[in-house]
Amino acid sequence: MSKSLIKIFLVLALFSVGFSSCEKDETTIEDGEMAVEDTHVFNADLMNADNLLENVSLVTATLTDGTTAECYQLVFKSNPVANGPYCPETIDDIGGLGIYDGATNPGFQVMKAELWNAMEADGYDIVDADGNITISDPGAGPAPSLGGGSCLEATPDNNLRLTFLIPAVPKNGTSNDVINIVENLGVSKDGIPLTGHPPSATQGPPGMSGGGPGNVAAIPAIDPCGGHMDPFGYYHLHFGAEEMNNVLLANDITEVSCTNFTQNTSVFIGYAKDGYPIYASEDLDGTLPSDLDECQGHTLATADYPDGVYHYHVSNTAAPNLPQCLKGVAAQNSFTYE
Ligand SMILES: [Zn+2]
Ligand SMILES: [Zn+2]
Repeated sequence: MSKSLIKIFLVLALFSVGFSSCEKDETTIEDGEMAVEDTHVFNADLMNADNLLENVSLVTATLTDGTTAECYQLVFKSNPVANGPYCPETIDDIGGLGIYDGATNPGFQVMKAELWNAMEADGYDIVDADGNITISDPGAGPAPSLGGGSCLEATPDNNLRLTFLIPAVPKNGTSNDVINIVENLGVSKDGIPLTGHPPSATQGPPGMSGGGPGNVAAIPAIDPCGGHMDPFGYYHLHFGAEEMNNVLLANDITEVSCTNFTQNTSVFIGYAKDGYPIYASEDLDGTLPSDLDECQGHTLATADYPDGVYHYHVSNTAAPNLPQCLKGVAAQNSFTYE
């Protein structure tokens, strides 16, 4: 990423941090008070309190449709879980995961010789004469020159504060909210941002990757649980991590597996930014739902909502496996960091 782009992102980030403090009508929620708000769908008891930096509070926030609504404000630490591995050092090593969308052998795959050879065949210069992989930090400065390529691996910043705003009562929009590349999608139960598709060799933030052969092909390394560092240093997930090993299996990836998150096919994953809960692939009765809508959602009882609730499911085969769209309206600044 170029320095000027980083500046633009910084300015945008500062802006959003500024606005996320909203017109605060703040109420601090003490332990045990959650059940009082029984009309609220969001339940802070489902979130991992160990990773919170301050008490969950209720604030009034502006939604993307311009209306205001009560939202829960959650402030989490930046990198609460073990992560990696990411980019392999040489063509003989095994790394994390990448999604390649060039001409030769495209698809979701583990980072190994097959991928680098395919990229070299497509015209990218990503392996040197000694077999070393070009690794670059997207937060450290300009991307490699034209014709180059690299495996992106950002440096963590463990001192960031991640703030999420989740509507207390979800409100459906007039149309589905389609989640774009790297757009915020929600928050995991551990306080980790859930994010839309990662950038790829031909699609991504300008200057970072994109354009195909002759241009820079920078593939973000994703760890075996489906997450990695943002250029600003916070870990985020492009996958529902608790179902990751099923996704790896479905994509014939056997060299790596997810060990940093307990695998479970029916567990609560987190909240989408519209306030609806997200679950692993199976329902309470242990079966895969057959009536999911275009956003991978439906209404049914769950372990946490015995009276029934609209909820999303992650796929146990697709890569990435998070919902591609949301039914409800999110807060304007659903996710900010500082
Ligand atoms: Zn990412
Ligand atoms: Zn379900």
